[in-house]
Amino acid sequence: TSLIKESNVDVLIIGAGPAGLMAAHALAKSGVNVRIVDQRPDKVAAGQADGIQPRTIESYDLAERLLREGNQVHMAAFYNPSASGGIALTDRVRDVAAPSARFPFEVTLHQGAIEAIFLDSMESLGVKVCRPLTPTSIQVSENDDQLKDVNSHPVRVSFILGRVVLRNLSPLDDHEESEIVHAKFVIGADGAHSWVRKTLSLTLDGEQTTYIWGVVDMTPDTDFPDIRNRCAIHSNNGSCMIIPREDDKVRLYVQLGDRDAVDEESGRVDKSKIGPHELLDATRKIFYPYTFKTPESFDWWTIYIIGQRVASKFSVKDRVFIAGDACHTHSPKAGQGMNASMNDTHNLAWKLTQVLRGWADISLLQTYELERRKYAQDLISFDRQFAKLFSGKPRTEEYMDGVSHEDFFKIFQTFSGFTSGIGIHYAPSLITDSSYQAHAKKLIIGQRVLPQIFVRAADSRPVEIQDLLPADSRFKLIVFVGNSSDATRRDRIRRLAEDIRDVLRPYSPDGISAVFEIIPISCAKKADVRYNDLSKLFGCHWSKVLIDDTDVSGKQGGDGYSNYGVEPLVGAIIVVRPDGYVGMVAPFENVKELGAYFVGFMKVSTPLPNM
Ligand code: FAD
Repeated sequence: TSLIKESNVDVLIIGAGPAGLMAAHALAKSGVNVRIVDQRPDKVAAGQADGIQPRTIESYDLAERLLREGNQVHMAAFYNPSASGGIALTDRVRDVAAPSARFPFEVTLHQGAIEAIFLDSMESLGVKVCRPLTPTSIQVSENDDQLKDVNSHPVRVSFILGRVVLRNLSPLDDHEESEIVHAKFVIGADGAHSWVRKTLSLTLDGEQTTYIWGVVDMTPDTDFPDIRNRCAIHSNNGSCMIIPREDDKVRLYVQLGDRDAVDEESGRVDKSKIGPHELLDATRKIFYPYTFKTPESFDWWTIYIIGQRVASKFSVKDRVFIAGDACHTHSPKAGQGMNASMNDTHNLAWKLTQVLRGWADISLLQTYELERRKYAQDLISFDRQFAKLFSGKPRTEEYMDGVSHEDFFKIFQTFSGFTSGIGIHYAPSLITDSSYQAHAKKLIIGQRVLPQIFVRAADSRPVEIQDLLPADSRFKLIVFVGNSSDATRRDRIRRLAEDIRDVLRPYSPDGISAVFEIIPISCAKKADVRYNDLSKLFGCHWSKVLIDDTDVSGKQGGDGYSNYGVEPLVGAIIVVRPDGYVGMVAPFENVKELGAYFVGFMKVSTPLPNM
């Protein structure tokens, strides 16, 4: 007799790579009933992606352990062919050229260690990856009533235990250890060859390039002076990128000849043709006159052809979503794969949480594809330019059509906002309203909140505002109240606080502070600020009342109003989305605009105020 387990779950995640784990972790933290499965029996042990952008370090509770375990990359060096043969240093610049980065460097650490940060935190929340479990079918209900009802479970996924070759499967009912999961929502985070994507007939647009690269991780023994910096090397014998890594390790990306590792018949990379020793031989030619000794062992290696593709759709009926490599693939050298993948589900998780809690309308989920597909398209067009210049031959007197250092460096600089993750900019939509940008000129709507140190009014402790904006599924309202100790302004601030609370109440079935957090920031002097008054007025904890002043040493903080472009005499209300991006700015004197923003995607549970 067959033994089929059946269960219901709010969110089912298929695939436990960076995208899936980010989603599972965020949802588990928000108390969502989540299940995550993977067909692999174990997590990644070595290799794969290894670069974490400054923007990613800033978010998601990762920083502490990342900074402890990872390697920091501060400097980038460029080498080009020299007149005497071989290569020579052309330039050294800072690795992250994004001035507003809170952490102005990249962190490198192998993918398995990064995944472990999520896995450990998830375990403390009682969520583990179910593995090995392989999905065999997925069906999304066609029933409109069911699809509209957030509490229904319209997606049915069946699994069998173990990792199997699907062709050889016996029919589900005959299989002894099978399982059926009914889910409200499914996230397909199952990598570049995504089964979810293929099964739901979502196509990939774009093509495979002809660039073939080898990757090798090892502890090097070399006289090359920039081995601990990120390096881009263009030589007459090919190109190479160095990524310094945790401990003494280094990763080398080595360009291979067009046909070196390709199987003539299938057109696929044939790993039996080239191994790490051949990659090292190619490296030696590129690095001449510097030398590389053969290490005792290699930690990891692979060979791949770069594909540059984006899925035509990221979702099916707003019930199944694909994320990460399942919806975009590109070259790994700009350090985007893992970052883009985690950012996809960072964008999706808070939206799912808000919908599942009954706070937001299900239409909010459409902004996932809108925001992340546009980002993926931009990423691919950047990658095309970057990969082409990186894989191109260097310009020499004999080969004037080649890539000059100036061309390459220009792209490197132009796209630094992109490679650092700092420049991500979501276009206007339901949740990104840029009508009142003039009230906070430098806090760009659609971008993440700029780092800035303020001081707590109650105890003078300096705090980084980004630390007060965790991804806890609540919207944050940063209220620049102006000078709260000015007697003529006090009444206006009192009215403002009442109006804000009136506007938020209808969207707060579980109480305002469950759905929103208000952070008032005064520009009065410390001695004059009555933090208790402000905390009572705005209904926030005392630790959230801030002042725009320096700390007791005079070394940290100050100039927050001017850094954000807010006029102290005018004031402003900044709405920060749960993912840390600026959603809108509302004028101090026009609080009803806040209501106009939230009514666009949130559910109203009590009558709207008359304003
Ligand atoms: P993945 O990390 O691919 O995770 C997908 C997960 O889904 C896996 O755990 C997989 O086992 C699981 N899965 C797949 N199919 C199913 C299924 N049917 N059912 C259940 N589970 C399933 N990036 C770089 O920046 N530099 C590199 O050098 C680099 N090298 C790479 C080498 C390899 C061999 C691979 C595979 C990837 C490499 N990448 C590299 C890319 C980088 O790892 C990805 O961009 C990143 O991991 C994407 O995260 P993801 O969660 O979307 O997908």
